Amino acid sequence: MEFSETRYRTIVESQTELICRCLPDGTLTFVNQAFCQYLGLPYEQLLGQNFFFLLPPENGIRTKEIVFELNPGNPLLHFEISRPGKDGNPIWQNWTLHGFFNERNQLVEVQAVGNNITERKLAELAATSHAHELSALYKATAALLATLDLETLLSQILDAAISAIPVAKKGMLYLIARDTGQLEMRAILGYKETDPRIQRFTILKGKSYVVRAIKERRPLLIHDYQTDPTYQSSSEISSNNSPVRSVIVAPLILENHAIGALSLESSSKAAFTESDLHLAISFAATATAAIRNAQLHSEVQKQAITDGLTSTYNRRGFFDLGLREVERANRFGRSLAAIMMDIDHFKDVNDKFGHASGDQVLQSVSRILFENIRKVDILGRYGGDEFAILLPEIDMFAATGVAERLRQCIADTAIPSERNGPIRITASLGVAKLSTTIKDLEALLQNADRAMYHAKNIGRNRVEIG
Ligand code: GH3
Ligand code: MG
Repeated sequence: MEFSETRYRTIVESQTELICRCLPDGTLTFVNQAFCQYLGLPYEQLLGQNFFFLLPPENGIRTKEIVFELNPGNPLLHFEISRPGKDGNPIWQNWTLHGFFNERNQLVEVQAVGNNITERKLAELAATSHAHELSALYKATAALLATLDLETLLSQILDAAISAIPVAKKGMLYLIARDTGQLEMRAILGYKETDPRIQRFTILKGKSYVVRAIKERRPLLIHDYQTDPTYQSSSEISSNNSPVRSVIVAPLILENHAIGALSLESSSKAAFTESDLHLAISFAATATAAIRNAQLHSEVQKQAITDGLTSTYNRRGFFDLGLREVERANRFGRSLAAIMMDIDHFKDVNDKFGHASGDQVLQSVSRILFENIRKVDILGRYGGDEFAILLPEIDMFAATGVAERLRQCIADTAIPSERNGPIRITASLGVAKLSTTIKDLEALLQNADRAMYHAKNIGRNRVEIG
């Protein structure tokens, strides 16, 4: 016995694993040098202490309970623990307990062997986090494939970016408006005082770091915004309850131009890592492709309902919107008027000045119409030289007034043409209104059309009512 104990100790002393033996109640009867070094206590001081109490409390209590489940048929028990190391970073250990039994199969002693598995654990965690990143990117890409509605898309991209980089407490998506060149905040996530879902609003001036990332067309990782050279004013950072300390900005780059930016913020210092930045850049690339896709789709959709020559609604677009207006007017008992307008002797314009000048006349007439109606009115090119207008919330008297103004304006305008100088034309107009007998769009337009033909028949360049 003495001999084998000495041999045992010699063997385990040279091991790098933490090795100890204890009684079933945890009282230590032996510890090796590695164990002493690990705890920073001498051998004598450790003997008699309780092994379970040396483990992190949660693991200690659990192990104390289950150690009695060891039996000769199943003498081994494995568990993992993690505790903060000297430098504050966690260290992980894998412990194997081996029970020894007397001839009556009673547990008499337990040997515990601990391995440092921190490196393996860190690698595992990195792999998990990588998998998490990939899944977030996958989610965003799936959104790209599934969503063509721009607003929904922007919210989905932001959602996915924030769930992939959870240290980001706020996220914003900015786009540069194509018509004004202005930077617009199109999606926002994570502001506490508002609904955490997407909000949409426009800002005139972007935050300085967003503007900088867009101007320089490169991503930014700011660890402490308050000491950053771009830090501008306290108002900028405290527009909501917690000031911005760390920032990631990834510009959205399309064919070498910045079209917007993805910005993630945290109120903690140095919250983001380089790997977060790379992930944000990947998201920005996905977002750019998705946004472009959605924009192209909406352009195609717009084209499908727009007349190519005059940019007014084509027949299909006019009917799509018109049907909705009629339904609304009927449901809420509101008035809705229609004007039909046809250019007088337009064939003569074509014959005299050529088709190209005829086209210019059509464009000018549509511009005159557009400039003389309200935003809520719907203007469509109904046929060759015939235009239709729907005027919500307007009675017959007011609609006739509008038609008269349009007639006058067309008659008064010398329409410039490239080859033939100014061209003068007139138009005939018919007005009708929804009523108890005129209940649908078709009937409404038919009545206005009939009135317009009446205007033609009785001399042209006039307004008649249906
Ligand atoms: P009215 O006063 O009776 O309306 O006489 P009109 O000559 O205007 O007769 P109508 O409205 O029937 O003629 C429409 C003409 O518009 C016929 C067609 O050649 C011409 N037109 C139709 N679409 C276009 C177009 O896109 N461009 C040009 N330049 N002409 C067009
Ligand atoms: Mg005509």
